[in-house]
Amino acid sequence: MDVVDLMFPMLPLRDMVIFPSMVAPLFVGREKSINAIEEAMNKNKLIMMATQKDAKKDDPEPEDIHLVGTVCSIIQMMRMPDGTVKVLVEGRRKAKVTHYVPGQSHFQVLIEYLSPLSEDRVPIEALARNVKTSFEKYVKLSKKLPSELLMTVSAIEDYEKLADTISGHLPLKLEDKQELLEIASLAEKLERIYSHLEGEIEILEVEKKIRGRVKKQMEKTQREFYLSEQMKAIKDELGQGDDEKTELAELEEKIKKKGMSQDATEKALRELKRLKMMAPMSAEATVSRTYIDWLVALPWKEKTDDKIDIEEAARILDEDHYGLEKAKERILEYLAVRKLVNKLKGPILCFVGPPGVGKTSLAKSIARALGRKFVRISLGGVRDEAEIRGHRRTYIGALPGKIIQSIKRAGTINPVFLLDEVDKMSIDFRGDPSSALLEVLDPEQNNTFNDHYLDLDYDLSNVMFITTANTLHAIPPPLRDRMEIIRIPGYTENEKFHIAKDHLIKKQLKENGLTDHSVDLTNPALFKIIRHYTREAGVRNLERQIASVFRKVAKEVATQDTKKALKLTTTKIRKYLGHEKFRHGEREEKEGLVGIATGLAWTEFGGELLVVEVAIMPGKGKLTVTGKLGDVMQESSQAAISYVRSRSKQLNIEEDFYQKFDIHIHVPEGAIPKDGPSAGITMAAALASALTKIPVKNDIAMTGEITLRGRILPIGGLKEKLIAAHRGGIKKVLIPQENYSELEEVPKKIRKALVIQSVSHMDEVLQETLGTKKKEEKPLKPPVLVPEGKEDKGKEDPVVKH
Ligand code: ADP
Repeated sequence: MDVVDLMFPMLPLRDMVIFPSMVAPLFVGREKSINAIEEAMNKNKLIMMATQKDAKKDDPEPEDIHLVGTVCSIIQMMRMPDGTVKVLVEGRRKAKVTHYVPGQSHFQVLIEYLSPLSEDRVPIEALARNVKTSFEKYVKLSKKLPSELLMTVSAIEDYEKLADTISGHLPLKLEDKQELLEIASLAEKLERIYSHLEGEIEILEVEKKIRGRVKKQMEKTQREFYLSEQMKAIKDELGQGDDEKTELAELEEKIKKKGMSQDATEKALRELKRLKMMAPMSAEATVSRTYIDWLVALPWKEKTDDKIDIEEAARILDEDHYGLEKAKERILEYLAVRKLVNKLKGPILCFVGPPGVGKTSLAKSIARALGRKFVRISLGGVRDEAEIRGHRRTYIGALPGKIIQSIKRAGTINPVFLLDEVDKMSIDFRGDPSSALLEVLDPEQNNTFNDHYLDLDYDLSNVMFITTANTLHAIPPPLRDRMEIIRIPGYTENEKFHIAKDHLIKKQLKENGLTDHSVDLTNPALFKIIRHYTREAGVRNLERQIASVFRKVAKEVATQDTKKALKLTTTKIRKYLGHEKFRHGEREEKEGLVGIATGLAWTEFGGELLVVEVAIMPGKGKLTVTGKLGDVMQESSQAAISYVRSRSKQLNIEEDFYQKFDIHIHVPEGAIPKDGPSAGITMAAALASALTKIPVKNDIAMTGEITLRGRILPIGGLKEKLIAAHRGGIKKVLIPQENYSELEEVPKKIRKALVIQSVSHMDEVLQETLGTKKKEEKPLKPPVLVPEGKEDKGKEDPVVKH
């Protein structure tokens, strides 16, 4: 090759490296460089390009320029108005400056072309492939390079060219690029390129990840922002823009003004602060909101003024209730004491009696007399402490307990609070409601009653609690201790009659819209209802039956649209109420029967007649006791047998009867008497009658516990039992000697209507019941206190129990 062929003008590149086969635009401003370009243009358009070692140097010396560069051809040249020149060059071959030709207006150099080394093909092939795939990956990741480039690169067969092309596109530092250019071995160059590519890919991937994360974050915040803006816009559109804020502000105002305890105010404000930070419609905001609403809705200071005027109270009690003298008197005494000591602390009143005797309505009257609000909860079936004390707020849908709920309903801190059926609570694994109730009722503790839901102390000490129960024995003893018991026994027929006349009829006329009509329920008709359509200690069913009659009357009046007076006779009652449900008078037969004796039981529903039957059959001395009897009754029957055995001689019965006969004792009655043993003497009487074949007098009823030796022990529920005996048409009642003193408590009318005889030993009972074999005189009329309807006369009805 001619030396001249290897002499070129040279252009020092400031901040780039041009590789062979690379096309690049250049802006040239330096005079020397422009001269070099002009020189090239005048000749063969070829020019050597090598990179300055320091880009900042404006007038570099030869030693400031790398020796290895690229011989390029100028494809295009444009002179710019400002004197600079823009050229488009394409790299041709790698070359090395060997000599600078001095004395020129530009750099003039002698070069030597650098040819590729001859190398082993295989590793280069392998490396080239790797580089290609890496480059592909790189292009895809980097958004800067056009994807057409991939096509070009993949089509390159010459690996030298491949290395140069890719090098030209790598975002490397100037030194790195220069180094790549200078590397003589292709294998080494490819390897270097590959490692650069991988490095770049890694960076790009991390970048991509970060970009993705940032984007997501941005999207989320943007979305939330967008939605809340939209929500605001919607609310504005609906005119509720600031409703929420004002609502919360109002709530805060309410909390501050309510006059709650300090603890409660603090709690409510704290909760409000939390609420403000929550999304308004979220579930937790609702929970928070409900809690504050509860606190605000509860009475904290609201109170009614007590008017304890004993005379007025007496008048109100009398106005609302017929009879009940004793109960009323006790209530008035209670109020009088409260008035004197000027507070309502002290024992809690507890009305005990069968259903429908007016316990609830007495409590209501007390509230009316005191001018207090009245609330009532039923404890029947309450087995979970949480029902009294509420659930903790961690439960979903938690609410305060019944006590706090009722106080809210009352709206004052001092209502009359009736706890109905305290004897019907039960205990199970969920805790003992009676212990929670103890806290409620204890004046020492109830000023700091802690409901689980409210989770703060609430003062119940101003509340007047009244409780009711059907039976005393089922009230948990610690509770009973705190109570002042007022017993309300059942009503006699006559009392029921008056209650109906004075209260129930008026009430029902009003409720059935018949006040403007003259409806006359005749006395015999009323008695018919009492006797044949109800059997109860109280008057609840009686009221229901009267209501039922009046409803039918109302229907007739409404359809006929007449205003004429309506007289309700016994026949009408029969028509309205259908078949008689109960027969009046309990005695089974006109004459006494062998092996059947009438006892008296005391159940939750008041007193009841209890018929005991004994059958004796030849056998081996087996004792069978049937009917719904508790264990106590079993024991009583054993005691009865032992007594009869001990009296076999006197009674003139076979001494070994208990071996020869099977004895079957049956009590054909559903109600379980709670005083099991009191049927003892009745069993013994029936057994003696069965063995001696002497009938028991049929108008005698008896009650008493029996010992093995025949002594008679006292019983409970005397009053109720005597009322039942009277209701059942019994003439004579045998009661234990020890109960005799309690007779004072029995209504006079009952005492007068019955022959009541006290007995202390079974022998006396047998004398009374079996003493004479003489057939009894005519069947007795039921103890009649008021005129009867015709249909009540005549034949005595056999026992039909419900
Ligand atoms: P309890 O609570 O004892 O089960 P209630 O108080 O609910 O019974 O009484 C049932 C109905 O009988 C009520 O309408 C009540 O007014 C009425 N009542 C009960 N006893 C009397 C009475 N002595 N005088 C007037 N009404 C009575």
